Amino acid sequence: MKINKAEFVLSAFSDKDYPYHNLPEIAFSGKSNVGKSSLINTLISRKNLAITSSRPGRTQSINFYSINNKFYFVDLPGYGFARVPDKVKEKWRELVNNYLYERKNLQAIVQIVDARHKPSSDDQMMVEWLKSVELPFIVVATKVDKLSKNKRKKQEKIIKEALHIDDLIFFSAQNREGNKEISSFIYQIVS
Ligand code: GDP
Repeated sequence: MKINKAEFVLSAFSDKDYPYHNLPEIAFSGKSNVGKSSLINTLISRKNLAITSSRPGRTQSINFYSINNKFYFVDLPGYGFARVPDKVKEKWRELVNNYLYERKNLQAIVQIVDARHKPSSDDQMMVEWLKSVELPFIVVATKVDKLSKNKRKKQEKIIKEALHIDDLIFFSAQNREGNKEISSFIYQIVS
């Protein structure tokens, strides 16, 4: 899949803001600071196409990007942030749940975890939910460039076991490892 056009469309703060269209949407989910923006930027081969990570505690939004005028990337706000008021967490839940449960355009999820760590309970919950709704998804373990070969093998086992999954794609925004695999998953969904 060659991405030749990627445009920021809008940030949604509630379902009323969602763009109106009939194209498929691929959403990216993961805890804050996991490397979600870097992954999206790598896929669209552009540095900082207005994709900036939201700081914990700041207003959270769902960001929509139009790709090749054929489909959308949807950047979900990161979860798992510590030290934010309950009100912010509640707002996050409402926003994300609404998108995940109600958005008809949603066709698949790219679930991102940190290759260096055991998945969090939020990561586990997300993957359990994905299985339960039978939405196509892949799990991507990012920042793999920070792991030695040995450690990588160990982490693969730990992550697969924690999430009860058979397939895991290792990714690095630094050397683009995994880029092709992720792109071909997306291509299958949107073509
Ligand atoms: P987001 O909050 O999930 O969107 O995370 P960002 O994409 O902003 O990344 C958070 C931090 O991790 C930044 O300092 C990135 O430079 C770094 N980072 C992201 N992906 C990678 C990666 O694949 N390898 C390495 N070494 N660092 C990464």
